[in-house]
Amino acid sequence: MSVQRSRLAEVLETLDWDDPSPSAAGEAGNPARDSSVGGSEGAILRQHAAVLEAAEGRPRYREVPVSVVCPGCGGVLERYPHGLPARVAYFAESCPECEVQLRRWGSIVIDTVFETAPSLDALEEVTTSRWKERIWSGVTTGDDYARTAEYSSAFEEQAEAFDWEWELRCPLCRQSSEEWSTSRLDYHHWSRRPDRGVCLCRSCHTAVTGGERDRDVDWAAQEVGLKNRYDVQVLRLAIIEQAVAEHGSAEGLAERVCERYNVIQSASAVESMLRQVVTGGEIPEVITRNVFKGCVDG
Ligand SMILES: [Zn+2]
Ligand SMILES: [Zn+2]
Repeated sequence: MSVQRSRLAEVLETLDWDDPSPSAAGEAGNPARDSSVGGSEGAILRQHAAVLEAAEGRPRYREVPVSVVCPGCGGVLERYPHGLPARVAYFAESCPECEVQLRRWGSIVIDTVFETAPSLDALEEVTTSRWKERIWSGVTTGDDYARTAEYSSAFEEQAEAFDWEWELRCPLCRQSSEEWSTSRLDYHHWSRRPDRGVCLCRSCHTAVTGGERDRDVDWAAQEVGLKNRYDVQVLRLAIIEQAVAEHGSAEGLAERVCERYNVIQSASAVESMLRQVVTGGEIPEVITRNVFKGCVDG
């Protein structure tokens, strides 16, 4: 226990508590912006292209002529000169070049004026970063039926057809599926209604929950001035994230936690809880218990 406690203190010491700039983060930006496609090509893509199911939610694509392209070869499958319809309920076009059937989650909408601009690497990256975000936040049907495993295989199949090196990793420890103790990610709920959560490997899931009963953690949380187990869990997750990715500032870490893990708290709430933990003297035991168990460097 004392080993864990000092390890935790060490992790938190790597943060700059006074630096207000989130850009100090060692691994800045949201998952989509992890993109290695840089420069003007990256800028074009971030503004003018998205996976079909994501583009549908953005009004801008309804206002300009757009094309749907195959992310494997860049070939145009469909053009909408009057903008993307508000809802493309079903899309299953076969790319004649690649002979792969493309769905709403596997084809790219791009402003028609830019349809020939991006490289194949860039199209791959737009597609796979969307997949990553979807899987990390847990794929469910309208009635909360989990479909993460099903989609993981669907994404894998398309990646294989295009010869992409797509690999699903746990968002927290960054380990690939070959290194997990189970064959799939666990879904961790942050909230049941509405359904909201994050997918983690089994070890990280255990590290975040401490493997304890919800009710016990709720009690212990309240004893140290936190609202409930979700506050404890998000703090545990933030500390592990810091151990893995070493962000520069407390603010940068809090922002990263919010965008990467689909949490229910705001970035400022996460930051102030972190400050509370650090400045409150000894780190409360409810947070330190088993936090590095099976995860990162135990
Ligand atoms: Zn194609
Ligand atoms: Zn993990």
